[in-house]
Amino acid sequence: MIYDVIVIGLGGMGSAAAYRLAQRGKRVLGLEKFTPVHAHGSSHGGSRITRQAYFEDPAYVPLLLRAHEMWDQIERDSGEHVFHRVGGVIVGDPDRGAITGSRASVEQFGLKHELLDASQLRERFPGMRPADDEIGLYEPGAGFVVPETAVRAHLALAQRAGADLRFEEPVTHWESGRVTTARATYEAEHVVVCPGPWAPELLGDLGIPFEIERQVQFYFTPDEDFRDHPIYIWDRADGTNFYGFPAHDGAVKVAFHSGGQICTPETIDRTVHAHEVEAMANATRSPMPGLAGTFQRAATCMYTNTADRHFVIAREHDVTVACGFSGHGFKFVPVVGEILADLVIDGATRHPIGLFDPARLRGRV
Ligand SMILES: Cc1cc2nc3c(=O)[nH]c(=O)nc-3n(C[C@H](O)[C@H](O)[C@H](O)COP(=O)(O)OP(=O)(O)OC[C@H]3O[C@@H](n4cnc5c(N)ncnc54)[C@H](O)[C@@H]3O)c2cc1C
Repeated sequence: MIYDVIVIGLGGMGSAAAYRLAQRGKRVLGLEKFTPVHAHGSSHGGSRITRQAYFEDPAYVPLLLRAHEMWDQIERDSGEHVFHRVGGVIVGDPDRGAITGSRASVEQFGLKHELLDASQLRERFPGMRPADDEIGLYEPGAGFVVPETAVRAHLALAQRAGADLRFEEPVTHWESGRVTTARATYEAEHVVVCPGPWAPELLGDLGIPFEIERQVQFYFTPDEDFRDHPIYIWDRADGTNFYGFPAHDGAVKVAFHSGGQICTPETIDRTVHAHEVEAMANATRSPMPGLAGTFQRAATCMYTNTADRHFVIAREHDVTVACGFSGHGFKFVPVVGEILADLVIDGATRHPIGLFDPARLRGRV
């Protein structure tokens, strides 16, 4: 079989790339180290926040406008329920970056939102007990996507469009036009690499220092009713920043966004320790007292961080890469798939990706 494009890694980004390339008529081979929709990388745990109020940089907003449109389209095409539009609220000090940055992005793009003071927040979302000087930015169009369902949907759509997807076939070596696995060597005009936390291993030649960070997703049976609740990010002045989801599949999920141990996919400690559960429960106790009722379970996952926490997406000759999603990439999965297909087929994309140029990171520590 002759292929036009080989996609290495069929997690979040690779499954979307395989779909978009096959949909545009390319003969695609997808190669994945593990089984479909596995829990060894970065795309598992039942939920990922998506929002358009983007304090990380307003340059992401056009991509998010397209991503939300595409999540709806994926649902129509696959028949799977991926995007739960439950609303979202960012809570914090009105002068700190999470709120000021979110305000800047919603104002610049005219996005629907409401600013709520502490008493309005308490009234609207009784599970939340903000301090009097904290405010909330509520975004009705925010919510969460289910990563396992999203990857499964993209893989199914890719196969329906003709992609040849092979699992449990790790890539042992790749170079321009040629990819070797334990089973065979394949050739194609173009190689797309979507390695997730295996970026240091597969993309060492990029010359970019990636840091793999262990993160824990905690699941509790809450003491209060969090079924009808938005997703939230709580930017606390004491540094205990956490985010979470409404009750879904019988549990509320909550996690810290930073402070994880640096690891590799081989060295990550997959055991979640009692002191970590205690620290998570303690952080939520005063702002959301009914949340961390009874501990159910926890799951580890990995961020692939760049020095500035912005992504790396680029084409160089006949190789295109997407990596370094720094703990905030999942919401972009469908639009990253579209961008990768544009870069491979057209050599350019209409989407704004200047922020993701790897040249900015070379030589940085
Ligand atoms: C705990 C946690 C919470 C998060 N929360 C959010 C959130 O709320 N909102 C949000 O937008 N983002 C969030 N993220 C980030 C988001 O999930 C990631 O940015 C995204 O999943 C990255 O997708 P990926 O395709 O780069 O990596 P992955 O999905 O891990 O895919 C990489 C794939 O490459 C495969 N692979 C690697 N090496 C090889 C090889 N040699 N041969 C073949 N295949 C190989 C792997 O097996 C894997 O399937 C979170 C991440 C974590 C860990």
